[in-house]
Amino acid sequence: MQKKRIVLNYPSRLVDQPVISKLVKDYDLIVNIMRARITPKEEGRLVLELTGKRAGMEAGFKYLSEIGVKVQPLAQDVKWHEDRCTHCTACISVCPTKALDVERTNMEVSFKRDKCIACELCIPVCPYQAMEILF
Ligand code: SF4
Ligand code: SF4
Repeated sequence: MQKKRIVLNYPSRLVDQPVISKLVKDYDLIVNIMRARITPKEEGRLVLELTGKRAGMEAGFKYLSEIGVKVQPLAQDVKWHEDRCTHCTACISVCPTKALDVERTNMEVSFKRDKCIACELCIPVCPYQAMEILF
């Protein structure tokens, strides 16, 4: 079994299509929708966690590409601007996954992209705009 966190970008013509149920039924994937947004131009953006067998995952991505859905890894859409971070630790207690964590010996904050679920809880608490989520 594989697990992947991805962002889907839908053109407006697909927003009301049963794309997700097809991933579940035809490709045997477990879909956890983490975030969903429709832009003013009515394009759709979904952040998903997909779980399934490698073959189902590959076939599901092929299907998405064929119908015109752009797929990218979630990691590309979350940025930690290390140069702006003052290691103040204000974000540490709000991050639910420990993607932002502090090394207690030297109080240095680090960001582990693969743990981030793009919940945005760190955005309002960071005084230096060091976290950015590109949705
Ligand atoms: S977006 Fe959420 S999970 Fe990601 S670093 Fe910020 S608080 Fe943590
Ligand atoms: S709140 Fe912002 S500046 Fe403070 S440790 Fe977190 S990312 Fe760095």
